[in-house]
Amino acid sequence: MTSKEIIQKARAEGRALLTETESKALIRESGIAVTDTQLAHSMSEAVSISNRMGYPVVLKIASKDITHKSDAGGVKVGLMTPEEVEKAYEEIFTSVAQKYPAAALQGVTVQKAARPGVEVIIGMFTDAQFGPVLMFGLGGIWVEILKDVSFRIVPLTKKDVASLIREIKGFPLLEGRRGQKASDIGSLEGALLNLSAFVEKYPEIKEIDLNPIFVYEEGYVAVDARIILSGA
Ligand code: ADP
Ligand code: MG
Repeated sequence: MTSKEIIQKARAEGRALLTETESKALIRESGIAVTDTQLAHSMSEAVSISNRMGYPVVLKIASKDITHKSDAGGVKVGLMTPEEVEKAYEEIFTSVAQKYPAAALQGVTVQKAARPGVEVIIGMFTDAQFGPVLMFGLGGIWVEILKDVSFRIVPLTKKDVASLIREIKGFPLLEGRRGQKASDIGSLEGALLNLSAFVEKYPEIKEIDLNPIFVYEEGYVAVDARIILSGA
């Protein structure tokens, strides 16, 4: 399905929240690297997709009603064998059924476990006055506790993305310190420019959350994506 079709389908179902697979399909179109993510409707399908992708894999609950998958006990990482995939599938469904008994469950998504990197977050929200705004920050405690994030109004220029990344307090972490290798800041700048152009192209998108993105010495990959559409 094209991005337009995905958006139309969600609208037709009266949904503002796009699923992880839908969100990643849109984000991939923008040129941003995301983990290849496939929907499995049953345990046996989850195993066959895992076998095809190669281990380790990650399983996540797939539901049009659940925004925060790990809060629901709906994420299992680092699964090494078909048996671990089966066990994770069962545990996810048990936990989610307890926490969200009313949620409609589609199955699980299967994706390759990404190798760890420096965690960053890229977001977009729509300000009543300024319209779409991009946000950048380091993942984990940096954003949750220290609120170490920076903002720019869309559209962003090359100069904007360079300063957006460099003005967060945690920037030295990306430059590499204390024996840590430097992260690929150039590729992150490219991702932000791509997202700015994408957001301009799709005014029907209200919010985007790429959390987390793993950044490496070369390149990066977004392992989670969430898109919220504006009211019909
Ligand atoms: P949530 O809906 O709770 O935000 P996420 O998809 O972000 O769920 O998954 C929760 C955590 O699991 C992430 O913060 C990340 O640390 C880890 N994770 C998710 N997907 C992957 C992946 N493909 N490879 C490695 N770790 C992952
Ligand atoms: Mg997430």
